[in-house]
Amino acid sequence: MARDLERRRCEIDERIARLDRDDAVLRRDRADGTADDEHDPEGSTLSGEWLQVEALRRAARSERQELDAALVRVADGTYGICLECGRPIPVERLQARPAADRCVTCAGGRSQ
Ligand SMILES: [Zn+2]
Repeated sequence: MARDLERRRCEIDERIARLDRDDAVLRRDRADGTADDEHDPEGSTLSGEWLQVEALRRAARSERQELDAALVRVADGTYGICLECGRPIPVERLQARPAADRCVTCAGGRSQ
């Protein structure tokens, strides 16, 4: 299970690196003056494309944090134990969502 977490974290790192590159390209395009709004650098220059990259980066970063936290729980032996009720999290749930830190009941309606 820990190996699976490591592998996923690796994939996330690659995804983040790719998004950082996309972001750098978008920023360079803006700096080139190809952006049509020089008067408001913080405002409308945030193109839809850039916002999308930014949203994906945020999602990837938070997923990475979850995986990091899961690996910490693996290390201290609490991985697979629900943080709320202390009962084991079903294996099927961990397979679907390795970073899960709560059982389905305690996670409630949240996406977690
Ligand atoms: Zn629980």
